[in-house]
Amino acid sequence: MSQFDYLQRFLFEHHAIRGELVFLRDVFQTVSKQRDYPIVVKHLLGQSMAATALLSATIKYNGSLILQAQTKGPINLLVVQCDQHLNMRALARWQDDSDFSQRLLGEGHMIITVSPDNTTERYQGVVSLESSQLNENLESYFEQSEQLPTKLWLAADHDQAVGLLIQKMPNIHSGEQAAGEEWNYWEHIQVLAATITEKELLSLDATTILHRLFHEEDIRLYEQQPVNFRCECDKNKMAQALQTMGEEEVRDILKTYSFVEVTCDFCNNTYAFNEQEINQIFSAAPNDAN
Ligand SMILES: [Zn+2]
Repeated sequence: MSQFDYLQRFLFEHHAIRGELVFLRDVFQTVSKQRDYPIVVKHLLGQSMAATALLSATIKYNGSLILQAQTKGPINLLVVQCDQHLNMRALARWQDDSDFSQRLLGEGHMIITVSPDNTTERYQGVVSLESSQLNENLESYFEQSEQLPTKLWLAADHDQAVGLLIQKMPNIHSGEQAAGEEWNYWEHIQVLAATITEKELLSLDATTILHRLFHEEDIRLYEQQPVNFRCECDKNKMAQALQTMGEEEVRDILKTYSFVEVTCDFCNNTYAFNEQEINQIFSAAPNDAN
């Protein structure tokens, strides 16, 4: 779609350390325009989108990866979905009259769900929200659940969301000495990466950032992958939403209006159902009374 939305993977040659940079501009703007987000909510949404794209590129899967937070903080729901082709959608809900100076994601968890296509099997991981910083929570998740030391830097402003990830993979060479050397190299890379500033993330491109951080290292760059906004909603899925709402409530709406409208929370597309369609939806639904 655009040169501004892309993911750049890279690898440190001769070392089992990989990295990724993601830049979301049009995708982030499309998402953040869907509702009137308070600025701090918008920033966290952007950081979560960057994190989800980075996460998704560390996992091999065909289907969708969903990062979801439900917490007692001012942001009570945050959902980011990303498929293996880096098509994304996202939304957040917040409590009006919230005090946004407190922790945005309050006590609670984030759930990472990977739903592969063509199977009902799902993989779920739980990220506990111990820190007020999203990147720190995800780092602990990788350390504990995946046993992969990982570092993340996330930044968002009015226009874009950017993320950097480095990850230590299982060692290539066996033996204590090799492991020790590899660990030292990992620490060296972490120190270099940690010199990145939010301002640099938000103003430089992938090539410039990588040169700025790692110009003395031997880095292999992979082809940049575009990231796009895509919402998978359609009339069938919205019909399911009506079923979930329940027949009584839907028929109540029909008493006042000639059709029932359902709006997708991710893309604001509206789907209208007339009485005939409503009849079909509820005649096709399994009868709960049985
Ligand atoms: Zn939609």
